[in-house]
Amino acid sequence: MNKIIALSALLLSSNSALATVKYHIDLSTPQHHTATVSMTLPGGSSESDVLMPAWRTGKYKILDLANGVRQFSVINATGKSLSWQHNDKASWTISNPSLQPFTVTYKVYANDLGTRTRHIDDSHAFLDATGLFMYDPKHQQDDVAVTLNVPKEWRSYAGMERKGPHKFVADNYDVLVDSPIETGINQVLEFSQGEQDYQLVIWGEGNYDAKQMADDLQKMVSASQNIWQGYPFEKYVFMVHATTASRGATEHINSTIIQRKRFTFAPRKEYLSFLKTAAHEFVHTWNVKAYRPEGVAQYDYQQENYTDLLWISEGSTSYFQSQLLLQAGLMTQKEFFEDLAKRIDSHQKKPGKKVQSVAQSSHESWIAMPGDFANNNSVNIYSEGFMASFALDFKMLADSNLKAGYSELHRQLFKQHRLPKPFNAQDVQDIAQSLTGKSYQQWWASNVESPIAIDFDQLLAKAGLKFSYPKKAKQIAATGFSSKAKDGLVNLTRVLANSAAWNAGLNVGDQIVAINGLKVTPSTLKVRLAQYSEGDSIVLSLFRRDRLVEKTLVLSQEKDKKPLVSAVDKPTKAQLAFFKAWLGVDLALAKKE
Ligand SMILES: [Zn+2]
Repeated sequence: MNKIIALSALLLSSNSALATVKYHIDLSTPQHHTATVSMTLPGGSSESDVLMPAWRTGKYKILDLANGVRQFSVINATGKSLSWQHNDKASWTISNPSLQPFTVTYKVYANDLGTRTRHIDDSHAFLDATGLFMYDPKHQQDDVAVTLNVPKEWRSYAGMERKGPHKFVADNYDVLVDSPIETGINQVLEFSQGEQDYQLVIWGEGNYDAKQMADDLQKMVSASQNIWQGYPFEKYVFMVHATTASRGATEHINSTIIQRKRFTFAPRKEYLSFLKTAAHEFVHTWNVKAYRPEGVAQYDYQQENYTDLLWISEGSTSYFQSQLLLQAGLMTQKEFFEDLAKRIDSHQKKPGKKVQSVAQSSHESWIAMPGDFANNNSVNIYSEGFMASFALDFKMLADSNLKAGYSELHRQLFKQHRLPKPFNAQDVQDIAQSLTGKSYQQWWASNVESPIAIDFDQLLAKAGLKFSYPKKAKQIAATGFSSKAKDGLVNLTRVLANSAAWNAGLNVGDQIVAINGLKVTPSTLKVRLAQYSEGDSIVLSLFRRDRLVEKTLVLSQEKDKKPLVSAVDKPTKAQLAFFKAWLGVDLALAKKE
């Protein structure tokens, strides 16, 4: 070892020795999906509580993460075992009469990819601190250091400050929790954009082009400045898992974890879906990580954290994701309109939109509701939050004579409400008023605190657009149910409230076997229904919990093609100006259908 290396080794070890809370993760037998975690705390109290979180950030659901903990033990600095008690599912009280520093050690089972909390196998480990790291509430705001013991060929990555190949530090537990670690055998690409540095860390094989991904992410991150004009980070890590069944993504303060099935990075439609997810998670770096509503601003890891504004955190993020891609040239205007049309169509067809407001939906996101009941009686913070953001953007643009829209509002949230200062509903209305000179009190009561009702014809016309069915679209008979093949039968997965199927008394789980006495299968359902028209009565034979029953259904109607968003024939100057102010690009006039 030469002198410089020896000196830096000494500095590194003293750096981590100086950290108040020290974690060591032993991953020497990853093939068994387990890690041994040691947490060293400073001591000084005769009694200390240590806790495991009950949920992880970004997923507003109780997960009871203590369920993977075994072999809990505690020793003090002189190696003496300390006594402890397991109080409730996620907290332990340690008795430390000598007041010495002490180390808590436990094993964690980590074999769950889809929740993006903890997954360890012989090729990698993904470690979100909520899934592995206990904390002492007394030391939650103290600085932490993490060292990993991993197989020789593994490399480690995280959004945290690096202090060695497998060593990271963070200002406190909250930063640790929002800086997951990916360690293993990964493909890594790096790029810089402006003054920020980025890493793309990919685990798993798949049909992706890593170079193309890095190039496109570079374009996308740059477009974020149209909204925020500033970054809350110096370094950002895109972690990607190309895997078997898991699909989803989670935002963190300066990193994201994106999971997709390994062969869903192509063709174009799938790749665009990857880019939308990446843009969504990147938008979160500001919206929910840099500024966050009251109620969730300081995370309480032991219980649900309530706010009526999660629709801003999620819905506005969905709203901005495609704008970033459009502005970065990664999405065509046609693809942007297709995305918008799909969202408007599904919003209009969702019975829950008349029942629940986005404020209520935000408050209730912690409650898992059965799918069919949810669709008929709820909205979700993502898709309905998108619609509320869309409507608010257009109102602000109109109210301000195109001087300020929803992007400016978010820029102000970033400027005025950086954490730890949260924002509330009044703050959002005040910012909208300061930017436009108009009051938003009435709009808020009607569109946020009540179910939102948007006149899309009127709204889109402002930007020179229309929402309509293709001229070739024909009326066909509609049932109001959705189905999936199961055991070779037509198995109902959704029954829309007040639809033909609803009125006929059909239920999710019913298995239709015949129409008017003749056998029907998943592959013949469409052609059989095409024999009938609106108003026709059909008798459905179906199994309901094994019993054969008959139901009479009076068919309604629907279009056989999806509706489109497109430019009006001759947009006015005012419409073109509105479009430009809204999206930052010119409206491309498409050829006629
Ligand atoms: Zn999100």
